[in-house]
Amino acid sequence: MGSDNLYQAIPSVDRLLAEPGCEDLLALYSRASVVEALRIAQAWLRTSIEQGGDLPPRIPEGARAVFSPGVLLSRAASHLDTLARPSLAPVINATGVIGHTNLGRAPLALRALQAMDRVSRGYCNLEYDLDQGHRGSRFSHLDNLFSRFFPGTACLVVNNNAAAVYLVLSALARGREVILSRGELIEIGGSFRIPDVMVQSAAILREVGTTNRTHLRDYEQAITPDTGLLMKAHTSNYVIQGFTASVSASELVPLARSRNVPLYEDLGSGALVDLRPHGLAQGPNVAEALSGGVDLLSFSGDKLLGGPQAGIILGRPDLVAQLRKHPMARALRPDKLTIAALEATLQIYGSHDPWTEIPVLEMIARPLSQLESRARDLTATLGSLALVESARVARTQARVGGGALPGEVLESAALGLRVKGSLDAIEQALRGARPPVVARVEDDELLFDLRTVGPDQDGILANTLTDLLSR
Ligand SMILES: *Cc1c(COP(=O)(O)O)cnc(C)c1O
Repeated sequence: MGSDNLYQAIPSVDRLLAEPGCEDLLALYSRASVVEALRIAQAWLRTSIEQGGDLPPRIPEGARAVFSPGVLLSRAASHLDTLARPSLAPVINATGVIGHTNLGRAPLALRALQAMDRVSRGYCNLEYDLDQGHRGSRFSHLDNLFSRFFPGTACLVVNNNAAAVYLVLSALARGREVILSRGELIEIGGSFRIPDVMVQSAAILREVGTTNRTHLRDYEQAITPDTGLLMKAHTSNYVIQGFTASVSASELVPLARSRNVPLYEDLGSGALVDLRPHGLAQGPNVAEALSGGVDLLSFSGDKLLGGPQAGIILGRPDLVAQLRKHPMARALRPDKLTIAALEATLQIYGSHDPWTEIPVLEMIARPLSQLESRARDLTATLGSLALVESARVARTQARVGGGALPGEVLESAALGLRVKGSLDAIEQALRGARPPVVARVEDDELLFDLRTVGPDQDGILANTLTDLLSR
């Protein structure tokens, strides 16, 4: 057959739309997008004819033959599926790092999800005073967020803790000196560096002490009439060990008071609960920091608090009022979804059980014996698959992560798999699965740490691995 005839054997769009298999596509997508995808499939076939590529089979139709409509339909379907696949999608986190910064940090509590749903399906009173019937302030929703836990402190919420640090420095120390220990010139996640944020905020960094040792007298001697702020920054992602000395925020309080300079602490991750019963260090605790007497502190909403991404600033009402008036406050302010999720998360701390309802805390609290028994069940299910060399219950060390409690580990359990064939290929296939699974590889063994995998995800994990390792 000549190539002219081949072009004529391409079924028309109308012909393809009438194909029974097309109904499924029309049920999922608009008619216009299905037509577009069918045209793209036709164009692909034309190119194949032109370039003498592989062609689908032809089937007789009346006196002539047409290319199989099914092949074109499935091509269109996969095109539509690719377009519809969201770039941001759920992932199974089998790394054992609870607040994994690359995997979205804190999963939200059910109550937080419900609260976002409630306020965003329709209108809400974000900036409307229902008592007075006129314009209100979105900040009013923040006034009582923390007052239940810390009476007398004011609160401001911004987009994240990086924004909080910037706002505090810019509002309270623009053109003035900020005294900070050399041991606390932190960098987080590659692009957030305190000295650089300082430059952007137009505050002047006044470093004191040395990398490993800073004393109270270092701060004392550095205070001048130009000092705008004393600052402490939590070393969230490293520990300094050996011959060290530092001055805690509470030890700085008398100095700050006597010289009339506000004291600000960047807590990084702020916890509202005591983590010690679960084998972790106390870490940066909000109540402890406030009772120590700092004037202002900030922390992330999505680290140990277990809420939405946010930067929470708590402290002296007069200072918070200054922050609220800053010209950048609007640029950094949270949206209604964040406020709703944060309020609902704090409601759990106040009126319910955070250790069962807040996913970050629930994962920290999972008993090791439960993780081991789930891992045992998985080894039994997967151990005999064709491509599995060996399956075992591995003892692992999970971490809080996300720039919280560096050096602290939680004893954990994982499904450990050795596979036949290429480990890299399997690991890559896991990342390509739906949902993708992100695991750890140690000493040629795949480790699926169950502290960060929900018990309700064990079945999905088992099915994904069965698909990949059965061949
Ligand atoms: C994590 C962290 C930040 C940045 O907080 P984000 O909420 O990620 O913006 C700032 N300072 C410290 C000490 C941190 O640990």
